[in-house]
Amino acid sequence: MDQPSNSAWLARSQAAVWHPCTQMQHHAQNGSPAHLPLVPIARGQGAWLYDFDGKRYLDGISSWWTNLFGHANPRINTALRDQLETLEHVMLAGFTHQPVVELSERLSALTGGALGHAFYASDGASATEIALKMSFHYWRNVGRPEKAGFLCLAGSYHGETVGALAVTDVAIFKDAYAPLVRAAAHVLPSPDFRLAEAGESPADVARRAAAALEAHLEAHGERIAALIVEPLVQGAAGMAMYDPEYLRLARALCDRHEVHLICDEIAVGCGRTGSFFAHEQAAIRPDLMCLSKGISGGYLPLSIVLCSDTIYAAFLDDSVARAFLHSHSYTGNPLACRAALATLDIFQSDDVLAANRVKSAKIGAALAPLADHPQVRHLRQRGMIAAFDVATEDPHFSRRFYRAALEREALIRPIGNTVYLMPPYIVSDDEIAHLATAIHGALDAAS
Ligand SMILES: *Cc1c(COP(=O)(O)O)cnc(C)c1O
Repeated sequence: MDQPSNSAWLARSQAAVWHPCTQMQHHAQNGSPAHLPLVPIARGQGAWLYDFDGKRYLDGISSWWTNLFGHANPRINTALRDQLETLEHVMLAGFTHQPVVELSERLSALTGGALGHAFYASDGASATEIALKMSFHYWRNVGRPEKAGFLCLAGSYHGETVGALAVTDVAIFKDAYAPLVRAAAHVLPSPDFRLAEAGESPADVARRAAAALEAHLEAHGERIAALIVEPLVQGAAGMAMYDPEYLRLARALCDRHEVHLICDEIAVGCGRTGSFFAHEQAAIRPDLMCLSKGISGGYLPLSIVLCSDTIYAAFLDDSVARAFLHSHSYTGNPLACRAALATLDIFQSDDVLAANRVKSAKIGAALAPLADHPQVRHLRQRGMIAAFDVATEDPHFSRRFYRAALEREALIRPIGNTVYLMPPYIVSDDEIAHLATAIHGALDAAS
């Protein structure tokens, strides 16, 4: 039997599927500079994706930052097959099961026991909603209902549901829905080290941003429930990186003003920045932490909010109204939890953090020649994230580059004028070289 080709799937997808984060018309505008190709994927293997016409693409952005150990990973597949034969799902209200218990225990252990309870949902935006609601409700339960405001950083991204948009500062995702979004969040200066003024180090920029946080807390701390940050790298802002000094100072300021620190590790957790959690590089712990994306190895929708015992304890009472009544139908799904356990097993058995240190150095070396490119600015890297900005006036740069990369067998999807690599951790030396070649070629083709 003939396999359907790419073109059959393209037409059917455009007729029936509304794709995320996409102006659908751009898929139809073949030949225009705005054209965004739609690529039907037949299967994945390791770091590679294969279409129906036999073309392949190296997944340079881990399928939106989710995939850690490759597509169709044999170890995760085996764990999921086993789980599928045992228990596919059971509601988590009133019931529990082995994968959710073991995952909660292991995540708590990974925080040194600082975050002792795990609350489950399915996607990152829900984890943000849960963390905000938990913080707010905590303060109400301890008799401080006036602590209802939130702080976030310029360029922050914490998801796109209406509640999460309140602490997201990316205009393109937020502005259209402004009337729906709660005005309770205040946006503070980002410690992004690209904002350095003459003579300033990244740590200086961090201290300057922390001074703004301090001033805000001194004036308004009484009414603030939590500060939410993406530790070390603000992903959707265009891989804005900053010095751990900001997290150290923010932790101390939050303590002084009785404000929760929420670390959104949805993108930067699970080894992406070099440590298992990014906040570890500042030697701090948050009060609440959001995980998603890589935690299930990129297999299944899973998000988790870990909280301190102090927060957990404030909800214990005879009264149901003081309980955290949030829920989603698939909360704690056993298959998703089992994928996460298999992911954690790989971290342990393969000493992934050590292997990534070697890989990230190789990625850095492969991209280093770009520093001399006349249009490249701020070549930067933190662990398994490497990025640079491109000086161009072309409004279609990102799509032009994306198309040029696909032609070079690479999935690299710039954010605006920022080109970045965030490959699966199983990427080989040859594959790193392939990505670097694709970037050099796409840059010349697109600029
Ligand atoms: C992707 C992301 C989210 C949202 O997760 P979804 O699963 O897409 O809802 C939230 N915060 C950060 C830092 C992210 O990168």
